[in-house]
Amino acid sequence: MMESLKTTDSEVYDLIRKELERLEYSIILIASENYVNGAILEVQGSILTNKYAEGYPDRRYYGGCQFLDGIERLAIERACTLFGAEHANVQSHSGSSANMAVMYALLNVGDKVLGMSLAHGGHLTHGASANYSGRFYKPVFYTVSKESERIDYDEVREIALKERPRMIIAGASAYSRILDFERFRTIADEAGAYLFVDMAHIAGAVATGLHPSPIPYAHIVSTTTHKTLRGPRGGLILCKKEFAKAIDQAVFPGTQGGPLMHVVAAKAVALKNAMAPEFRAYQEQIIKNARHLASCLASKGYRIVSGGTDNHLFLVDLSDKRITGMGAERALELSGIMVNKNLIPFDTRGPNTASGIRIGTPAITTRGMKEEAMGTVADMIDTVLKDPENEGVHRTMLERVKGLCKGFPFYPSVLSQ
Ligand SMILES: *Cc1c(COP(=O)(O)O)cnc(C)c1O
Repeated sequence: MMESLKTTDSEVYDLIRKELERLEYSIILIASENYVNGAILEVQGSILTNKYAEGYPDRRYYGGCQFLDGIERLAIERACTLFGAEHANVQSHSGSSANMAVMYALLNVGDKVLGMSLAHGGHLTHGASANYSGRFYKPVFYTVSKESERIDYDEVREIALKERPRMIIAGASAYSRILDFERFRTIADEAGAYLFVDMAHIAGAVATGLHPSPIPYAHIVSTTTHKTLRGPRGGLILCKKEFAKAIDQAVFPGTQGGPLMHVVAAKAVALKNAMAPEFRAYQEQIIKNARHLASCLASKGYRIVSGGTDNHLFLVDLSDKRITGMGAERALELSGIMVNKNLIPFDTRGPNTASGIRIGTPAITTRGMKEEAMGTVADMIDTVLKDPENEGVHRTMLERVKGLCKGFPFYPSVLSQ
């Protein structure tokens, strides 16, 4: 692999080799990350990167798109079949680009949007001040309840009826509980708002029926394709027929230029993979692993936000420990275990320090780890967090982590070259 790169550019080659080793020999618990298979890698590295295909199948701005039309049609058909949607746009370069197109399609500058607060698990693109969505639109937010650390739908309704937003956004990056899309739609209807569901994190569970689908309730649904869906890095928009034209125009020419056809093709492959029975078994195992890992950590004295998880991720509250989220992320990284610092609901620290970490199981489940390994991983995390500054602990743990990873190889054929 990469023989021509090796001679063309040894610097980039060496860094990719090192990254490959890092992926193979660390325990990746970042909830938004995953490992893609060889077919996805092949397609993304294919000659499809050469071609301009602005427009849509049979309506392109350039000639020579007949084979690309076939590829994009496959991706669209598969997305519609997998999720039971009436229309799909498969061209968004990322989840954020997809969200930008959705807002561009349905809103005018200055319109009010009601989203989940970033500090309570929402996403930057749901109205955060650092993001276009907070600058071009007028954001208002709902949070989780202090007692249950879950969304309080009565509160969402209250805010919606008071603020009368043009759009309500449901979906999160750090929320471990089932989202009640039916309830969100009832609230949206009462408030006269569109319901936009961003299922970026939970798309794999939705595709396999392990999380209720937003499709029957939302006016528009967006997702990433690279998280639990285990495809190439990219975005996807699903909607009812009545919004098809507005969404397609908002993606191109509204907010993007030429589509990344090598990525569109890889999305088609990922969507096919997601229809296989093994993919459902994979999604079930992700949830089992997350629940088991959370309960192992809880039994070692760690408080899990909201008391557990219904999906692929959970938050660990470290505010009663002698370590911040930032400190924990750093100590674990030095030990070969990748998590991210994360605000917990009503955090007293800022986002750069944070009092929690977010832990997700999609990547380690892809490499075949099951409940037994979760016990080991919980033990490793606890060992590091009990003595986070100790370099000896980091060194010993790096070796233990490597040993565990060798039992669950994922890209071994590449590494052995
Ligand atoms: C990851 C994520 C996105 C953004 O995806 P990118 O591909 O990183 O732009 C959007 N919304 C939610 C809820 C996410 O978790």
